[in-house]
Amino acid sequence: MNTASKPAFLPFSRPGIDEATITEVGNVLRSGWLTSGPKVQAFEAALSDYLGGRLVRTFNSGTCTMEIALRIAGIGPGDEVITTPISWVATANVIIEVGATPVFADIDPITRNLDLDKLEAAITPRTRAIIPVYLSGLPMDIDRMYRIAKKYNLRVIEDAAQALGSRWQGKPIGSFGDLVSFSFQANKNLTTSEGGCLVVNTQEEAKLAEKYRLQGVTRSGVDGIDVDVLGGKYNMTDIAATLGLGQLPHIDAIAAHRRNMAHHYLHCFGPEFEAQSGAQLPVADTENSNWHLFQIILPVRVKRAGFMAQMAALNIGTGFHYSPIHLFTLYRERGFKEGMFPVAEHIGYQTVTLPMFNALQKEDVERVVAAVKSCLITA
Ligand SMILES: *Cc1c(COP(=O)(O)O)cnc(C)c1O
Repeated sequence: MNTASKPAFLPFSRPGIDEATITEVGNVLRSGWLTSGPKVQAFEAALSDYLGGRLVRTFNSGTCTMEIALRIAGIGPGDEVITTPISWVATANVIIEVGATPVFADIDPITRNLDLDKLEAAITPRTRAIIPVYLSGLPMDIDRMYRIAKKYNLRVIEDAAQALGSRWQGKPIGSFGDLVSFSFQANKNLTTSEGGCLVVNTQEEAKLAEKYRLQGVTRSGVDGIDVDVLGGKYNMTDIAATLGLGQLPHIDAIAAHRRNMAHHYLHCFGPEFEAQSGAQLPVADTENSNWHLFQIILPVRVKRAGFMAQMAALNIGTGFHYSPIHLFTLYRERGFKEGMFPVAEHIGYQTVTLPMFNALQKEDVERVVAAVKSCLITA
């Protein structure tokens, strides 16, 4: 093919920072105050407003946000925490990081989130918490999940890393529930380049979050400071917070645009696509998901790496989110093996993420759908 006629590369994700926000970041850089300061406070207040007034604290990654949530919940050695094998590995790594034991339950083949029957079956007397993940921004039956948590007296740390702007029963994810963790990593619907935030229940939990994020320092003692728990270095910078402040007012519009693009995808694939290709489209959600990712499941006859290479040759970026966590070496060494979570294994090996980002246009969607059809449907 003549490279000059090749359409421009379309990535699967692309951050969209507007010029006003870029200018504001410049102002912070000129201000002389770069680390946590007034912008972090303002971002936490704005997040709290968006999340129905709940208490919110920011951190420098979604990963440390979840680790701190587990610490706040008092989870440690001897405790089991149940989560999904299909997530970014951070979701399970943080359980090991606090000294607890990760337990997986298989996923639902349609929503690709934790199967709540299997979750309930995995509960033992040592289970202390569950970490549900809203993969691609699609919530599960959150009411039922909390009923199970209540019945067995479990803490819930919602890994809502992908779900800012998603809703459940008309309410924003994070505006209700127990501990809710978001990520602002570069690919997420709202990004601070790197960052995250935790929604907590009480002032005591908020104080603990502040201690864990900065060396355990608390204001008391002889010199006006004391250290009474082991904290780390997890605070967000004012530079990052400024990026977040610029996008937060648009988060619902971002979700609405992505819902429109997802519908255009489903419309362009059409009702025949699944039967013709053997691939599986995502749930046609119109209410709840912020459509962080648009993912299809390839038929088993198609090797994902080959498909991704074909799409790359057409100048279209794709991704896979995610490999089954339990089959990584670290987890195999802890006793997990093939065959334990068959739905997760099938989806983990066959899932492909198609382009979806805040500035995606209908023409982009049409180009991607034509390319996918050319790769999967043999006339
Ligand atoms: C992005 C993500 C994380 C981790 O967030 P970081 O900010 O990259 O540390 C955790 N879980 C899920 C489901 C994610 O998508």
